[in-house]
Amino acid sequence: MAAVSDPVSALHRIFGFPAFRGVQEQVVARVLAGQRTLAVMPTGAGKSLCYQLPSAMLEGTCVVVSPLIALMHDQLRAAQAVGLRAATLTSVDENRAETRGRFLDGDLDLLYVAPERASTGDFRDLLDRGRIALFAIDEAHCVSEWGHDFRPDYRLLRPLLDRFPDVPRLALTATADEHTRADVLEQLGIPHDGMIVAGFDRPNIRYTITPRDNTPRQIADLIARTPGPGIVYVQSRAGTEKMAESLARTGRPVRVYHAGLDASVRAANQAAFVESEDMVICATIAFGMGIDKPDVRFVAHAGLPKSIEAYYQETGRAGRDGDPAVAHLFWGAEDFARARQRIAEVEPARQPGERARLTALGALVETAGCRRAILLRHFGEQPPETCGNCDNCLNPPAAVDATQVAQKYLSA
Ligand code: ADP
Ligand code: MG
Repeated sequence: MAAVSDPVSALHRIFGFPAFRGVQEQVVARVLAGQRTLAVMPTGAGKSLCYQLPSAMLEGTCVVVSPLIALMHDQLRAAQAVGLRAATLTSVDENRAETRGRFLDGDLDLLYVAPERASTGDFRDLLDRGRIALFAIDEAHCVSEWGHDFRPDYRLLRPLLDRFPDVPRLALTATADEHTRADVLEQLGIPHDGMIVAGFDRPNIRYTITPRDNTPRQIADLIARTPGPGIVYVQSRAGTEKMAESLARTGRPVRVYHAGLDASVRAANQAAFVESEDMVICATIAFGMGIDKPDVRFVAHAGLPKSIEAYYQETGRAGRDGDPAVAHLFWGAEDFARARQRIAEVEPARQPGERARLTALGALVETAGCRRAILLRHFGEQPPETCGNCDNCLNPPAAVDATQVAQKYLSA
């Protein structure tokens, strides 16, 4: 990449974007100043740019740690598409020797690796012999046992990072409650004042949370009053099929998506949804990652999501175009019972985190106050008391009997 002097011209010249979004500028400035940073930014906020841009401006290679090979290859293509010199070093890459050579020659802006490789002696020796501009640790919540996606390999990164104490480090995540954040800072050796949190509010999404009586009928009603494409999240594969059958009666085109389908069927259904202007897709949470469809008008949950983070991420697929969109969650007391049962089966060390996540969800579901306020506070933002665009703000409940049901299952 040609040397570029300042971040804004680099942004124009490399990415062709007119301006930074939100906290990107602040994060990039810290990275260029060599300051260790944790960037907490919602999905779609543009985290990748926070290290891609510096990678083009700094001498040496930005080493990016990323947890999934599939994501890494998406990122690789995106980086190469804007002309960055990028490579992945994973078990499925056949050109590993070439990539090592390019790194040593200073011919790479970005080198993507999985955490298990990053912690090997081989990789450490490679880094010793080349020039590292920056460590970027994507999905950094994976380092925390409090996080919803703990990956033990992330714990092995610290010795590698500490071997290069002068190389700046940038940790990135969309999903961090207060506890997880503190843990990420601690685990990765980032100072507390090095954390930057972006705005999580999605004002065009109307949040509604309703006890379940007959979910297919309730969701059919939702569909009837909500034109445009939508996603219905169902907890089991069989459940998605059943839901699709019921919803076919609404007259809207309906498709199914879950990991049990043939890859070709999955791909076809996803492609049909992305192109459609009125399709409803009944899916497990396997659906959505990396899908770029701006005009999703509703996201319905036919049961409790895994965590507030998951709820935020899944509902966040609605209304990316900024037009009004609806997030409607239907829940039952048995969801909490099942979740508690599941928690009892996980490793004891992880149980407190899981319980805290369930309690946080319980608070969201049972509140008679503003849903958005609970979401935003969860992500560390100070919300106004009322948002004017959730069920409780629009129709303040007189008395919430569901409260007691959820409470019972949370405290039993
Ligand atoms: P995240 O990792 O935070 O979910 P990505 O890095 O994948 O987000 O970016 C999401 C999308 O936003 C990408 O298509 C990216 O090109 C785009 N994007 C990032 N920064 C900007 C910007 N400053 N202006 C316009 N689009 C941007
Ligand atoms: Mg990302």
